[in-house]
Amino acid sequence: MPKEGSRLTEQPEVAPRTAAARILTLLHDSGPLSRTSATATLGLARSAVGTALAELDALGLVRTTAHTIAGSGRGRPSPLITPAPTGPFVVACALRPESLRVTTGTIGAPIAPPRHRALGARDVAPERLAAVVAEQVEHAVRQQAGTGRACAGVAVAIPGALRQDDGFVHSSLCYDWADVPFGTLLAAHLPGLPLHFDRDSNLTAKAEYRRGAAAGAANALVLTCDGKGIGGAVLNAGALFTGGGHAVEAGHLMVDSRGEPCPCGSRGCLERYADGVALARAAATSTAEKALCAKSPRAQRARRHAAGILGSGLAGLATVLDPDRIVLTEFLADLLAAEPDVLTREFHRASLLARTRGLRPVPGELAEPLLTGAVDHAFTPLLRDPHQIVG
Ligand SMILES: [Zn+2]
Repeated sequence: MPKEGSRLTEQPEVAPRTAAARILTLLHDSGPLSRTSATATLGLARSAVGTALAELDALGLVRTTAHTIAGSGRGRPSPLITPAPTGPFVVACALRPESLRVTTGTIGAPIAPPRHRALGARDVAPERLAAVVAEQVEHAVRQQAGTGRACAGVAVAIPGALRQDDGFVHSSLCYDWADVPFGTLLAAHLPGLPLHFDRDSNLTAKAEYRRGAAAGAANALVLTCDGKGIGGAVLNAGALFTGGGHAVEAGHLMVDSRGEPCPCGSRGCLERYADGVALARAAATSTAEKALCAKSPRAQRARRHAAGILGSGLAGLATVLDPDRIVLTEFLADLLAAEPDVLTREFHRASLLARTRGLRPVPGELAEPLLTGAVDHAFTPLLRDPHQIVG
């Protein structure tokens, strides 16, 4: 999954050990690259790269061809390192408050166009949702039949606080779950497939850090919103600050102590005014997308109000977290694009830190940040140790 227009860099968070792991990770992040640039980027000896490429070839992960790529350097042509056409794939599932999206990914390639399935109120009962997710995963695996590719793992992004090891969900407000062993329920449907779990906003933030608008930030605050509810994550030099699992529940930041009641038990939470559902309700449109572009005075007022509240909510978060970059993704990026002046003005009005530093929220850069992050998450064990997983 190349990051467009970027120079080659090695990602610190995967912490690969062997030369083979480092080359495979670089290939995954940059897409096909010349042997010369891999050697230079990783600072490895030519002989070490040659040995590692032979190992990766033997594992069926990488091909080295005689072709060269344009601009690969002066002098002698350099062989091109590409992902093996029969290398492994992973399945990524994004569970959102009202939908499930599923895709597949392979090493060093963009993710496949996702499949979308709406989730009704009955679908989100834990046993039922495990069956729905399993059905979609099985479909994705069947689609790869005949390609010669093997499934290396499945990653499931969940909107809630959970235990990564086994997908035990401590709480998910949008599904009304408390202490649900979702990972165990899903594993019963999918024996033999390695399953990986993470909170949705963590995966989005990591993807934007690895390949998008948060890249290189010392302290990045990333906010997500699929339309309903607002999530958040903070990355300190690429490492997540998780607290006890609930850190940066940005949607439940109180912005009005006498405001509307929230299912979390509090009042006046940010997402009651600034998510897509709130905007559509205030604009009297059937969807958030319509509210973002409607020309009626009511819709314009609703947009400015939502953007202003988001700006003051960001100011509260910035005062506590002191980020050097704030990335708004999905619906929140659209709201920023619709009302950039109102949002930034309220943000600066309410935050001395933001004002003095000239900090402005920026939109995410990835079309599918959550699924991209989930694909990376499913590939992490393979990228850390190609021998152990494939061998
Ligand atoms: Zn709340």
